[in-house]
Amino acid sequence: MNNKCELIYEGKAKKVFSHEDVDKVIIEFKDDATAFNSLKKARFEGKGKLNCQISAKIFELLINRNIPTHFLELKNENTMIAKKIRVIPLEIVLRNIAYGSLCKQTTFKLGTTLAKPLIDIYLKNDELNDPLITKDRIELLNIVSAKDLDSIIDLTLEINRILQKFFKNIKLQLVDFKLEFGYDLKNNILLGDEISPDNCRLWDLNQKNDTIVSLDKDRFRNDLGGLIEAYSEINRRINDFI
Ligand code: UDP
Repeated sequence: MNNKCELIYEGKAKKVFSHEDVDKVIIEFKDDATAFNSLKKARFEGKGKLNCQISAKIFELLINRNIPTHFLELKNENTMIAKKIRVIPLEIVLRNIAYGSLCKQTTFKLGTTLAKPLIDIYLKNDELNDPLITKDRIELLNIVSAKDLDSIIDLTLEINRILQKFFKNIKLQLVDFKLEFGYDLKNNILLGDEISPDNCRLWDLNQKNDTIVSLDKDRFRNDLGGLIEAYSEINRRINDFI
């Protein structure tokens, strides 16, 4: 990183640096992986590069479909340039199939296809362990207005329609994913963060029977092994298709 760039923020999987243009940032994808609110940690050589490449391709796809995102361009293999945003402290999870925490907290059976996409919103707060939050709590905490929350939900549903179709074409089932949004300097709502196998559940549709083959961070969460192989496979399928 050149010495004009200052580290502004370091998260679990990314570092954010300032850019010479004040309205841009440089995002570096790290090889670190965490799960269960950082109780489990590991490093996977090459993960940062793969997530950066995958995210860039998906952001480009979404931009072409008129979804406003923070992505501007790739800088190098594990670094991208993005618009500077004020991150909204909410994690927007969309689920097409019941899995993960949904099955621990409700009576949904693992792997059930949901009758319609379910949106679960969590407060982004490590100390509180990212609790599930309601629309009214969001409004009363002044996190975003009811109108902006509706826009975020509409954008998330549209992103799901685009991604579900895209992943199906490359024989992947989009089970669920997590998004983060922010405001740019003109207060427009933009999709931020990343879209990668770190925050999407993707199952291989090239299986003859109904066995679930996860090609995402569940390989780490559930000690399945082969995380880099799975992420590389997703990157390969995306590049072969686009
Ligand atoms: N997710 C994420 N970051 C989080 C929590 C969840 O990216 O802090 C993603 C996760 O990868 C999955 C979806 O959101 O694609 C739903 O996760 P879930 O609530 O089932 O949580 P988990 O099974 O990880 O406890």
